[in-house]
Amino acid sequence: MNTIRLHDKQFKPFIFQNQINKAIDILAEQMNKELKEEPLPLFLCVLNGAFMFTADLVRKMDFELELSFIKLSSYCGTQSTGEVSEIIGLNASVEGRTVVVIEDIVDTGITIEKLVETLEKQHPKQIKICTLLLKPDQYKKSLHLDYVGLKIPNAFIVGYGLDYNSYGRQLPDIYVIEP
Ligand code: 5GP
Repeated sequence: MNTIRLHDKQFKPFIFQNQINKAIDILAEQMNKELKEEPLPLFLCVLNGAFMFTADLVRKMDFELELSFIKLSSYCGTQSTGEVSEIIGLNASVEGRTVVVIEDIVDTGITIEKLVETLEKQHPKQIKICTLLLKPDQYKKSLHLDYVGLKIPNAFIVGYGLDYNSYGRQLPDIYVIEP
């Protein structure tokens, strides 16, 4: 496979489809074991990046679940607390339920931590976090990540849902930026 150009940057092949599929199979096996007793877990796909991962993951779940798609918006609040994250598109009820957050990638963990804090206010039974990718050298939060597909070094990647300024999301493989 060749390097690709998106906007002004060059990217080279990094994680191939078959590796992604294997990682998802392992995650699915673990989740099927651990979540099958939960009554209708609520899976929350964090858009945009997690759309492809979610589509591949949920078709491997062998229990009933509810799937919802959310987006996060950050804005500067009027209070001195500064940035507040708001969840857009969460129509499903969270109270008393097992919620599984599906992320494409966890980097510093700021996004996932804010999302979990916001969801906690709605009193779920428990929140499980599932991310296809993790940059362990960047992740400094104490929040436990329940399901992690692949650990990657600290470099900018695109493909399989992840974009560079809206380009590259549709790529079936993952590419890494060239220095
Ligand atoms: P965090 O809040 O954990 O630092 O960052 C999480 C978000 O940053 C991800 O949901 C994703 O949107 C973006 N992100 C982090 N690393 C990468 C990367 O290597 N490539 C792309 N395309 N987005 C990334």
